[in-house]
Amino acid sequence: MIYEVPGGGFVRSWIISADEGLIVVDPGSIGTADSAREFIRGRTGWKMSQVRAIAVTHFHVDHIGGIARLLRACPDDTVVYFHARVRDYLTGKKEIPALHNWKTQFWPIAIKGIKNVHSFNHLLIESMAGIPLRGFGSRFLPPIPMEKIRWLCVGGEGRCDLAFGGWEAMETPGHTADSISFYNAKERALICGDLILNLDDDGGHLNAFCEDRKRIEETFRFLSSAIAPRAIYPAHGATIRHPENALLAVKTA
Ligand SMILES: [Zn+2]
Repeated sequence: MIYEVPGGGFVRSWIISADEGLIVVDPGSIGTADSAREFIRGRTGWKMSQVRAIAVTHFHVDHIGGIARLLRACPDDTVVYFHARVRDYLTGKKEIPALHNWKTQFWPIAIKGIKNVHSFNHLLIESMAGIPLRGFGSRFLPPIPMEKIRWLCVGGEGRCDLAFGGWEAMETPGHTADSISFYNAKERALICGDLILNLDDDGGHLNAFCEDRKRIEETFRFLSSAIAPRAIYPAHGATIRHPENALLAVKTA
């Protein structure tokens, strides 16, 4: 089952519940981390000790800005899932690539997204890490202990089983090279990060604010041939639902 972290925020953060415990996806701000913690503590039968992992769809500031805060409220064995490429960013081997089309693509997302921010805490971030602007990318590191991190999609494997309620991580590059989506074939649910946006609640569209437009189109074609989710949960905008395949509702042009 998937639950939205209540309280709003620039990024929509999700909690996945399964027999194995809980996974929190994209706690992108200090406020979101606190809202996730309060939500978990407030639900009957849920405890923070059940949080097995914090999973990150990609290494951008609005998706990683509350990880350390949440981690401090989790048990010692809770891990953080990143795409294997993030290791190069954290070790300084590579700089996060800059995004293009700020003028035409970023501002519409920012203006619409800010309407979901209901408290100042949801704008606070732990560090300046993950800002996709030239010169920023390698200068700041998130306050996340390296030993807590588990790398996904290692060695070119595009998909990997999370051993958690039938959920798998799928490489979905394009918005960034390290983008991951989380898919459950039984529930037919896709948590897609910033691959697809749905800020106008009109079926969504492939994100044109990206590192590589061609790559994101290829990713979408691959996904359309490989999976058929009935619900897509984007990080920005409303859930996309369709009785057969929610990818059919998504505009690609
Ligand atoms: Zn985002």
